[in-house]
Amino acid sequence: MIIFKKASDLSKYLENQIKNEKKVGFVPTMGALHQGHISLILQSSKENDLTVCSIFINPTQFNDKDDFNKYPVTIEDDIHLLELNGCSILFLPDETEIYPPNFIKKNYELGYLEYCLEGIYRPGHYQGVCMVVDSLLSIIQCHNLYLGQKDYQQCKVIGKLIEICKINTRLHITPTVREPNGLAMSSRNRRLSNAEKEHAGLIFSTMLTIKNQLKEGDLSLIQSNASNTLSNEGFMIDYIEITDLNLNQVKSWDGKISLIVLVAVVTNHVRLIDNMIIC
Ligand code: AMP
Repeated sequence: MIIFKKASDLSKYLENQIKNEKKVGFVPTMGALHQGHISLILQSSKENDLTVCSIFINPTQFNDKDDFNKYPVTIEDDIHLLELNGCSILFLPDETEIYPPNFIKKNYELGYLEYCLEGIYRPGHYQGVCMVVDSLLSIIQCHNLYLGQKDYQQCKVIGKLIEICKINTRLHITPTVREPNGLAMSSRNRRLSNAEKEHAGLIFSTMLTIKNQLKEGDLSLIQSNASNTLSNEGFMIDYIEITDLNLNQVKSWDGKISLIVLVAVVTNHVRLIDNMIIC
């Protein structure tokens, strides 16, 4: 694996590779890698000649300083894991490579996607996400971009970014990788004890219950039952919402359209998000 720290070196290298007809896949991350990230690397390696992974903890997407300061950093382990799993290139920039002094801050017109669900609890978050992904995609001219369904709203936002900025890349969304008890793997899980991780499996089983109880008509009872289950078990709930696949809230289901349930809860000061397509 080649490690690049300078954006200009990486761009030049990739330009040459692309001239030689190499297909490039890209997996952006914030590090503290786990099998969820690795599933994206493996998918990209299958479908491309070169896979680039970036590790950059992007300050502009954190609305909570404490969350930023506590974000886990495990670079040595990350490098080892990427090498073991056949990643070709690691981009490990510092902040000035992503946001150089001449960086022009844009405002991305994301509409509703920016203000619903996560947008309510993390104001400015998706502008920060777009800023970093826009910058990364201008450095890494990839044919294919790989994101995890775990961050469903982020996938929709980046889909919109690609559309509004006319970025020439194809977005692939891959399934969420889970612990044996159903807990979605996440870098933030490192801040939970084993007992807390075990307990957090309830997020998955609650979404599964919603899926199993789903029937045409009013959805408010299933939703409030799920909410009660989690709050009775000590989770602080930011939201449990059932929407269509474009994140428009669905209160009454016609039995036809596809639905997704999205959850954000806090347990022991750690905020966890998850989702499940339920039909
Ligand atoms: P992060 O490092 O948390 O910014 O995540 C980097 C990428 O990995 C994003 O596209 C995430 O959606 C994806 N990802 C994170 N956790 C998982 C998971 N458990 N399964 C699949 N993809 C994931």
